[in-house]
Amino acid sequence: MSDITVTMPDGRTWVPKFVKTINQEKCIGCGRCFKVCGREVLQLVGIDHEGEIVSIASDEEDDDEYEKKVMTIANQMNCVGCEACSKICPKKCYTHEPMTA
Ligand code: SF4
Ligand code: SF4
Repeated sequence: MSDITVTMPDGRTWVPKFVKTINQEKCIGCGRCFKVCGREVLQLVGIDHEGEIVSIASDEEDDDEYEKKVMTIANQMNCVGCEACSKICPKKCYTHEPMTA
């Protein structure tokens, strides 16, 4: 088993590191990672007073339903391992890992 490596046109190699976890204790729901991910991997959700996940409509004005907003991984298989989300996150919430074959 070894990490999957991509060879670039100029001969350089790159090991994609796919999104693994988002630390919801540290996440402040700022949405920066969502904006940079072009693959629709991520979804912002609300956490209510009981710690349950509540969906947030994009045009939602009423935030009484939830206590805080956090980012979640909705479509992990869409991830291309670019790490843009991790680089922009101000709270260092992300972990990534290479794919092995
Ligand atoms: S690594 Fe890239 S593709 Fe994967 S979730 Fe982060 S920004 Fe999106
Ligand atoms: S950039 Fe970091 S703190 Fe902001 S929503 Fe994404 S995971 Fe949370």
